[in-house]
Amino acid sequence: MDKFLVKISKSKKNTKTNAEKNVGLSEENLHSIEKKRSKIDIVPNTKDINQIQNAVSSDVVTSKSDQTTNTLLESDNFIQDPGEKSTNALILFSSGFGPYQPNNIIFPQHSGRKFRPEWYSSFPWIEYSPSSNSAFCFYCRAFPSNTSDPTFVSVGFKQWSKASYKSFPQHEKSFGHKEASAKLAGYKSSKKSGSIISKVNTHHQQIVADNRAYLKCILDSLLYCARQGIAVRGHREDEDSSNKGNFLELLTLCANDNDIIQRYFIEKEKTFRYVSGDYTNTFLEYLANIVIKNIIDNVIAAGIFSIIVDETQDLSRHEQVAIIIRYATKDLSPAEVFLGFYETETTDGETLSMLIKSTFVSHGLKIENIRGQCYDGAASMRGSYKGVRARIREENHLAMYIHCNAHILNLCLIDLAKQVSYVRNVFGTLKDYETKKSFFLLYQNQIVREK
Ligand SMILES: [Zn+2]
Repeated sequence: MDKFLVKISKSKKNTKTNAEKNVGLSEENLHSIEKKRSKIDIVPNTKDINQIQNAVSSDVVTSKSDQTTNTLLESDNFIQDPGEKSTNALILFSSGFGPYQPNNIIFPQHSGRKFRPEWYSSFPWIEYSPSSNSAFCFYCRAFPSNTSDPTFVSVGFKQWSKASYKSFPQHEKSFGHKEASAKLAGYKSSKKSGSIISKVNTHHQQIVADNRAYLKCILDSLLYCARQGIAVRGHREDEDSSNKGNFLELLTLCANDNDIIQRYFIEKEKTFRYVSGDYTNTFLEYLANIVIKNIIDNVIAAGIFSIIVDETQDLSRHEQVAIIIRYATKDLSPAEVFLGFYETETTDGETLSMLIKSTFVSHGLKIENIRGQCYDGAASMRGSYKGVRARIREENHLAMYIHCNAHILNLCLIDLAKQVSYVRNVFGTLKDYETKKSFFLLYQNQIVREK
């Protein structure tokens, strides 16, 4: 088995010329760009070319006797002789091969002259084809263009008499050869340090990663406010405000030791900050959906569960129905989770039972898995015929009704309080809304006076 030893070592020489940077593209792009860019000015100066050539020739060595070899490549699948139907030179180059420069052979004569192996060192791009007794240019074969000289790409050069003093130096100075050299060096450089496209990609990926990291900071801060049950917004959030609310103040605090928040939020490196009311509401909605999904997953995993439902008026006099689910965790300890407040127009049994059912359906919970239902003593809830309790049991007779113990205790306390005239009077006074309001103002004044 014939094996070629190929050295693919890192060149210490600085060969990053402008020409290289321009053509530092990946292999697949080179083929398409090859056709389009022959008119683009990528011709480096002679000094650059020499540097490139030295770098290339010092990196790719085909000599079998070179003992500094790092990598062993199988040559069975490659035909290196450029005179035969050789493997594509670019494929050879990307596989670690360089110009085909056989040494220990007899070079036949042509017109009284023959090929001289010393030329390998004077012209590192030269290849010799034993089958056709002619010379080729490896660089031009690897990166052919419209301006490439076909003699050195496909035909083969044999005019040995004027090779070293005329034809080879002439070819070296030709536009096609310089272009091919620059492309080859650029290709080699892109292999080492990554192509421009991959560098642009890397930069883009960094931006995306930073954006995501900032968004995570925003979400973490919102989640913190939500978990602590503190208001997100402030009364005044403009730049001059001394207190911009919990969310913005938290971000300002975190910016001290978080570079991303510092850049995006304080220094305003980006035009977006994602801190307006619309954004925070949207983010909170997304976060709530995730929290609810986790809760529902746990409930579904538990199999069966009970429900606790109660309705009350909020400050704006809208009826809010609170739905709570109680289930057993994996280690059989009880868990109670609050699903949410659901607004309703009316509080009759039919409306409330429909609300509960539709909420369950929207979350993927099944009515037939309910084993207990716990409400207050209101007729619309506990009614034996038209109450929520009866309507749920119509669908699932295993959903046993239990009068809420907390409500029973509350009723007991009310009855008890009514027996004491002072307490009765206090609650009677408090019940009146206007009185409540004036009491509140009185209480506020009292605080101000104490201060
Ligand atoms: Zn050439």
